[in-house]
Amino acid sequence: MTRDTKYYDILGVSPSASEGELKKAYRKLALKYHPDKNPEAGDQFKEISHAYEVLSNPEKRQLYDQYGEEGLNGQGGMGGMDAESLFSELFGGGLFGGGRSRGPQGPRRGKDMVHQLKVSLEDLYKGKATKLALQKHVLCGGCGGKGGKQGAVQTCSGCNGQGARITIRQMGPMIQQFQEVCPQCRGEGEIINEKDRCKQCLGKKIVGEKKILEVFIDKGMKNGQQISFAGEGDQAPNIIPGDIIIALDQKPHSTFQRDGDDLVYQANIDLLTALAGGQFVIPHLDDRMLLVTILPGEAIQPDMVKVIPNEGMPSYRHQTHGHLFVKFTVDFPQSNWADDETIAQLYSILPPNKPLPAFGNKHVDEVVLADATGYQSQRAHHAHHNDDDDEQDGGQPGVQCAQS
Ligand SMILES: [Zn+2]
Ligand SMILES: [Zn+2]
Repeated sequence: MTRDTKYYDILGVSPSASEGELKKAYRKLALKYHPDKNPEAGDQFKEISHAYEVLSNPEKRQLYDQYGEEGLNGQGGMGGMDAESLFSELFGGGLFGGGRSRGPQGPRRGKDMVHQLKVSLEDLYKGKATKLALQKHVLCGGCGGKGGKQGAVQTCSGCNGQGARITIRQMGPMIQQFQEVCPQCRGEGEIINEKDRCKQCLGKKIVGEKKILEVFIDKGMKNGQQISFAGEGDQAPNIIPGDIIIALDQKPHSTFQRDGDDLVYQANIDLLTALAGGQFVIPHLDDRMLLVTILPGEAIQPDMVKVIPNEGMPSYRHQTHGHLFVKFTVDFPQSNWADDETIAQLYSILPPNKPLPAFGNKHVDEVVLADATGYQSQRAHHAHHNDDDDEQDGGQPGVQCAQS
């Protein structure tokens, strides 16, 4: 049985050549016969590339060694990898720009499209089904994404369908590559006759379409949580569409703040309710009114935090509830709210004044308090007029300074 050694001969190596020797031989020949450098040698470049594609794959090489070209049955054609992408793989990826070349992995996946969806805290509490209208690209129905009539679309011969061409220059030991958009197809990779172009998409293969997505917001979902619609992304020829991803963006709420599954509510009560007890209302996210009782003598203090158990957010997919924390502010009466008699009553009701410390032999000055507002602005003005002192003071000029 005579062994078929044609592929080895094409590369000018012996059938026992190592992987490294094969690669070296291919590099040398590919550079020499690349169509950009040597336009007359087109077929030779393909032959070299094909021989290398087979021999550089251990499985194919074994089949070829044993059975010759026939052993490659089905795998022998240029289907697996075309000469250009093999070339670009060997000389470094990205030669033809962003993943344009169709590699052996088949069609690539399109990008995911992320959309923000504004939701209220009420939506996240109660759950909601909502519709979202999106603009996206779909394959043209008029031509089935071909861009024109059957057979009208031709792979560009100028760039082998890659849309870009590389020019190679060897300068001594340096190999320089230049990439340019293919002038014949303007980077499209294929050519469609003007008259055969699809009328609907004008040869672009894709058209814009309004897509309505039904988005189900589950109870307890969180700000930033994502809902995916697999394969609903932009369509394009030879691309597996990516996903549409809806990212929830919670609008700030006027009364509640969320902390995980808990809610925080700022309650403002009056001094009487704080001291003597009473009721106030929290309008909840599901339209219920929580009627809250403060017990007499509970003595709610400003900034005190209390909790209403299990009235927080529903937890996502468990539907148990977090807690509702209530932070208090207490409204005090206005200045001079009471007459002497009322004040006297307070003295008899409230716990007594704190005792003063012992003064010993210290000198004591009696002073009164004035309203602080006017005094602050005076200090700010003072700092402004002594520019030299500004830095030592470390004082920040106030609003008043900016105005003067
Ligand atoms: Zn079309
Ligand atoms: Zn082209």
